[in-house]
Amino acid sequence: MQKINLFGMTAEELRDELKDLPKFRSKQIAGGIYGRGARTFDEITELPKNLRESLSERYEIFSPQPVEQLDSEDGLTTKFLLALEDGAVVETVLMRHDYGNGICISSQVGCQMGCKFCASTLKGFERNLTAGEMLGEIIFINDFLKNSGQKVDTLVVMGTGEPLTNFDNLIKMFRLLHEPYTLGMSYRKITVSTCGIIPGIKKLIEENIPVTLSISLHAPTDKLRSALMPVNSAFGISEVVKAGDEYAQKTGRRVTYEYILLGGVNDSEEHARQLSKLLAGQLANVNLIPYNPVNERDFFPPTRHDVQKFFHFLNTHGINATVRKEFGSDINAACGQLRNKHL
Ligand code: SAH
Repeated sequence: MQKINLFGMTAEELRDELKDLPKFRSKQIAGGIYGRGARTFDEITELPKNLRESLSERYEIFSPQPVEQLDSEDGLTTKFLLALEDGAVVETVLMRHDYGNGICISSQVGCQMGCKFCASTLKGFERNLTAGEMLGEIIFINDFLKNSGQKVDTLVVMGTGEPLTNFDNLIKMFRLLHEPYTLGMSYRKITVSTCGIIPGIKKLIEENIPVTLSISLHAPTDKLRSALMPVNSAFGISEVVKAGDEYAQKTGRRVTYEYILLGGVNDSEEHARQLSKLLAGQLANVNLIPYNPVNERDFFPPTRHDVQKFFHFLNTHGINATVRKEFGSDINAACGQLRNKHL
């Protein structure tokens, strides 16, 4: 008989699943699983021995397991390849910022969005991650940091996959992560990145949880954006920016537009001008991302000079822009590259 995995259940779900036990037992089990890293019932020592035995006959506590670890030379980035219960692997990245430990998780195994510059979509889409698997990525890193007295401070859902097409699991993970028996993370410490799935953005507004929305724009015109991102033929630029504006208006939270700079493709002054017109007057900022080259793709990073020019143009034309600090390009940190190598 297949054992039921308790990892990923909320305290209420544990209570329902273990309804024959007194309520305080499900609290102890949640504390053991999420707070103290128990992966067998024997490690939850508050439970009487016979209960531990009977639980382990029906249940298991499985969370993603490390297959590979890569550390960047500067020691700031650590990338993990984690194996899920069915053997699928995903990438999770720890970035040691000056303001704390940030982590970037995957939301799907593979990706179906087909962006022309990205490594994550090269091998297609396998499946959505469950809420427990996404939480497992975070708790794995948190446990890893615990050894040195640290914890995960901020989360970005910017790894492989399109989080807003895995909506229900994503929201369940956010709510679990916010619970005091997991990390008790404030929603304000969470950022979710989308290629512009408009129905997902609208649903996120309705959820009314103050997470930061990041939208991958990457081009200022429909023609160029459609050539880079097939999703643009379903959700065009003006509609995407309108949805972003609605998010900002309804939540009062500034939206970030990600803009990868691809050398000679979207990094000219004319592109900067079009972008600044597109976003004029919005409660938004632009995060410029110098392209992290992917072997199988025919794109190149911009020159340092062009990055500076683009950045300067935006900031002197009413658009608040930043340039993303590169993390771990020496360890294949662009989404999907480590997983592809493994496959
Ligand atoms: N599907 C979501 C989240 C995952 S991709 C989205 O599209 O936003 C996270 C970000 O990394 C996106 O902005 C994506 O376009 C960018 N990205 C993908 N490959 C990259 C590369 N090789 N170099 C720099 N950024 C990349």
